[in-house]
Amino acid sequence: MFLRGKTALITGSTSGIGLGYARTLAAEGAAVMINGFGDAAEIAGYVAELAQTSGAGARYCAADMTKPAEIRDMVALCHAELGGPDILINNAGIQHVSPIDEFPEEKWDAILAIILSSTFHTTGAALPAMKAKGWGRIINTGSMHSLVASPYKSAYNAAKHGVAGLTKTVALEVATLGITANTICPGYVWTPLVEGQIPDTMKARGLTREQVINDVLLDKQPQKQFVTIEQVAALALFLCRDEAGAITGAALSVDGGWTAQ
Ligand code: NAD
Repeated sequence: MFLRGKTALITGSTSGIGLGYARTLAAEGAAVMINGFGDAAEIAGYVAELAQTSGAGARYCAADMTKPAEIRDMVALCHAELGGPDILINNAGIQHVSPIDEFPEEKWDAILAIILSSTFHTTGAALPAMKAKGWGRIINTGSMHSLVASPYKSAYNAAKHGVAGLTKTVALEVATLGITANTICPGYVWTPLVEGQIPDTMKARGLTREQVINDVLLDKQPQKQFVTIEQVAALALFLCRDEAGAITGAALSVDGGWTAQ
């Protein structure tokens, strides 16, 4: 329970990888604030589960990551109700798959806002408390698409590359203050986000579901398996350890070999 006494705020954590981070950190005693959309009863169940696991507090905030004022209120609420945050994980994300000349403007704006701009806003709001304590961990969920691109994902690739660049900047600005900032770059992880992009990819490329999974999603993932949520969360947990204190400004791949090519 090495995170006893620490508070983690995790955006986009009502599902998939974000919920995995919350569960993993709570299992080490962290109080957690989760965020994201979804069914109210299901979310209440996650909050109860997290509080039970950690033995510390757990809260939910419905802030929309496209809305800067709601983001800042979320960080303030975390501070008021749970303390901190000592650990900030920027994880909210959406995807849209389309050729760039047909890419809807509103999808571009939403993806940039949710993935990149929200990370700017949460970081700015969370840093003062971390600086005051002389300890902090900022962990941003990037992607293999923070490092390399795939076609038809212009907004996502741009936003995720942006996250890696922003993370390096933050790491440099707080390098002497006991705070680290890193980007975790997963390959394909089996989550609702991946499930959701299968129909669009089928349409954009004229493929069957099986072809999308085997020939598109796992085509460039040399291990030919999806990464697991637990594998991604385990790296985040390690980054919270004091032993990881010298890891900062890094983009760390958990991608089954995707970016080795
Ligand atoms: P998911 O769809 O299961 O979860 C996304 C979360 O973000 C949900 O909790 C959702 O409610 C939340 N969210 C979406 N829009 C939001 C908004 N406007 N405001 C607040 N919350 C919002 O997806 P996932 O696969 O778990 O993805 C999590 C992160 O991991 C994303 O940043 C994604 O880009 C990244 N990622 C995923 C994969 C993968 O293969 N699944 C690979 C690399 C990176």
